[in-house]
Amino acid sequence: MQQPVFCFDRDKTVDVRPPKRGRAVPLAWVQYYAHRTEHDVWATGNPRLCHEAGIPSPREARELLVAAGREPVASYDRMNSGRIDRLRLLDQLYAESYDRTIQFVVVDDTDVTEYTADRRWMYYGPTEFVAAVEDGAYPEADPGAVRGEPYADPGHGDRYRSQLNRFKRRLSE
Ligand SMILES: [Mg+2]
Repeated sequence: MQQPVFCFDRDKTVDVRPPKRGRAVPLAWVQYYAHRTEHDVWATGNPRLCHEAGIPSPREARELLVAAGREPVASYDRMNSGRIDRLRLLDQLYAESYDRTIQFVVVDDTDVTEYTADRRWMYYGPTEFVAAVEDGAYPEADPGAVRGEPYADPGHGDRYRSQLNRFKRRLSE
């Protein structure tokens, strides 16, 4: 895996519920990265983003680990107190499915550098992430490429089924 894994918080980070100050990450960017690029994308904050963007959360990551007979390093707690554990679950999923060279990018209005510092994780607040994209650190999203796509349909899980199936295969190898 060459591309960094993107983890997006929702509330006060993405423009469906923007921060009071600074810039929000457009939802269309999250959708674009998830569905038009090779980046894996996860919803690590409010899981409403799963429906809005058609992406999985660490809840699914944990289920994959359990199904493969691995002991998850953390429980899944969707509340604020669980945000570091959610990152730990993804770290474990990639470590067991790939190796420890995977790069992660987490975008969250809540500072999670207590976790990301000294790891292969980059942390950005939403304003900083938008600026980083504009500076060319990550691909410029093309919202037109995903406009009108129904990510919130009842079968939204199908939107990321192939991503989860890839882990299922790798964990069983
Ligand atoms: Mg937030």
